[in-house]
Amino acid sequence: MNMKSRYRCNNCKRVFFGEEFTSEKAPLLLHHGGGFVDVYTAPCGHKGAEGVWELVEEYKVAAISDNTNSFGLRNVVVINVDGRAWGLGSNSLNLPEVGEVLVVPLLLNGSSPNWATMGFEIPEEMLAAPDDVVEQVWGSSSNE
Ligand SMILES: [Zn+2]
Repeated sequence: MNMKSRYRCNNCKRVFFGEEFTSEKAPLLLHHGGGFVDVYTAPCGHKGAEGVWELVEEYKVAAISDNTNSFGLRNVVVINVDGRAWGLGSNSLNLPEVGEVLVVPLLLNGSSPNWATMGFEIPEEMLAAPDDVVEQVWGSSSNE
């Protein structure tokens, strides 16, 4: 597990940092060849091997365009606490609110958010937001 990454519990859907988990060695079943596996316990009390936890990133909606593009989509700008920023196309049914926090699972490559599962279209990663913008969007909650 990556200490700085965020993981979502498949059981209770809460999101935790990797560093909030505790791990212990548990014996593997013999038909898997024996040995030991790392089992992680989240602050919520749920347990599981690393693959049980869904790797996610949290983004806050920083801005939404007033106008729509030729496909009827509004442009939604989202920023995470590290300044990573994306521009997303959103139809009116799926439109989030400014200030809303979106928890998005990562694709299997582990680096790109799977915006399609959230109903967003044409995602484009933007230049990283400067610190003062991150501070403005996330405020003191960036230290939680
Ligand atoms: Zn849980």
